[in-house]
Amino acid sequence: MFRVLKKDPLSRLRSALGRDKVLTSPVERKLYSYDATPIPIERAVPSAVVFPESEEDVRRLVELCYEEKIPMFPRGAGSGLTGGAVPTDSRGVAVSFEKMTGIEIDLDNATATVQPGVVTYELQRRVEKLGLFYPPDPSSLKYSTVGGNIAENAGGPRCLKYGVTRDYVLGLRIVIKEGRLLRTGNPVIKDVAGYDLTKLIVGSEGTLGLITSATLKLIPKPPARATVLALFDDLRTVGRAVTRIMTSGIFPSALEFMDGSAVEVVESYSPAGLPKVAALLLIEVDGTPSSVREQAEAISALLREMNVGVSVAPDERSAQKLWGARKNLGPALGNLRSGKINEDIVVPRSHLPEVLPRLKEIARKYDLLMVVFGHIGDGNLHVNLLYDRRNREEEERAERAVDEVFELTLSHSGSITGEHGVGLTKKKYLRWQFGDTGYEILRGVKRLFDPENLFNPGKVVDL
Ligand SMILES: Cc1cc2nc3c(=O)[nH]c(=O)nc-3n(C[C@H](O)[C@H](O)[C@H](O)COP(=O)(O)OP(=O)(O)OC[C@H]3O[C@@H](n4cnc5c(N)ncnc54)[C@H](O)[C@@H]3O)c2cc1C
Repeated sequence: MFRVLKKDPLSRLRSALGRDKVLTSPVERKLYSYDATPIPIERAVPSAVVFPESEEDVRRLVELCYEEKIPMFPRGAGSGLTGGAVPTDSRGVAVSFEKMTGIEIDLDNATATVQPGVVTYELQRRVEKLGLFYPPDPSSLKYSTVGGNIAENAGGPRCLKYGVTRDYVLGLRIVIKEGRLLRTGNPVIKDVAGYDLTKLIVGSEGTLGLITSATLKLIPKPPARATVLALFDDLRTVGRAVTRIMTSGIFPSALEFMDGSAVEVVESYSPAGLPKVAALLLIEVDGTPSSVREQAEAISALLREMNVGVSVAPDERSAQKLWGARKNLGPALGNLRSGKINEDIVVPRSHLPEVLPRLKEIARKYDLLMVVFGHIGDGNLHVNLLYDRRNREEEERAERAVDEVFELTLSHSGSITGEHGVGLTKKKYLRWQFGDTGYEILRGVKRLFDPENLFNPGKVVDL
């Protein structure tokens, strides 16, 4: 009598997908156990890194992982800032979508159907050549992927006028429990059939299943744009100026804020010629060439009435220099101290005049360097607390300051995150925001899609 030896799970994976799609060398496993989260987090080195090349590969992978109870940690480019793509269980596999990069454009319906590993900038370049526009523009767009952007519901400066990633996702294909394929939505603008599963999956941070394809809405590309620079002597006026701009009848395509510390930091990292100020706003308007000129003039006039220093970038090169300063802030801050906690709170715009100075009071109370910048037009502020990682006492002060930042945010009807997601680092605060009933509903949704807790376990909600 022969005894049939059961294959180990990784051998089964190799047989199901092909050897070259399942890597187990220590170097690869270690490399894929990181993302861009700047603070120390709980992480595990996965047992393998899997590179599916098709939806069928993903389906087989999930089927097998569900049979063998192997956790799966989906991953785009690993640029996430809250530990979303970081494995938390060494029995699990990291699933990298970097080989799924197909793009199909439907010009007649102005949609693009893309695989998750497509880099967002690459998609934008392709559609812009056809006169179309895919607006979501996280600062990481040159390397982050559409799959990662959808899983995080990423946003950026242009989302003020054009909306966030979720507003462009018309339909999804996602492999959920047991390897079942779920199709949601349709390539149409109107669709009110049943619960909106597409919107639920966008922003679910890989905890409900593995996205294999997305159909995205495209819009006509605006032909011209202009940038206005506004310089402030005090923080309170910034909040009032934002409200004035947003109620003036002009809808800027971007409205970005940098406080005085942010300006100093970026000037010493890569000088753009910005002066010493309490704060500045970068305001972009878009449309036809003549409407862009009119909008820039109107915004300049209303700011001058408030005694704010204003100038309009004379050409695209000067405008890009200003936007370059804003985009350099992330790397510039990384150079400043060994520890950085980067939160991305959101409050209603009208609360900004009160919230901005209160943030600075928290920094003073805990004797910490705080740099604030962000998408102020939609009330989304990046609050960076900088500290020395070797100094445990200072690190603890930073952690206490973060608690206060979130208390302040929630007391102003805000949200703990506008872009970066919950991942591992904000789980505690999600409960604060949702309360017991809301949190129970979130857990129920997770159980429905993933009863065995195998999709990105340990992230967003605990079962
Ligand atoms: C310098 C810098 C600037 C940034 N600026 C912004 C910004 O302006 N706006 C913003 O929103 N974010 C920003 N981010 C954060 C980050 O780039 C975004 O969260 C981005 O959407 C992550 O994309 P990614 O491809 O790197 O995904 P990853 O970091 O690899 O993964 C993110 C999440 O998506 C999940 N995931 C990935 N692919 C799939 C899939 N196919 N199916 C299911 N789940 C999946 C992962 O499990 C994880 O939970 C920035 C990051 C950096 C480093």
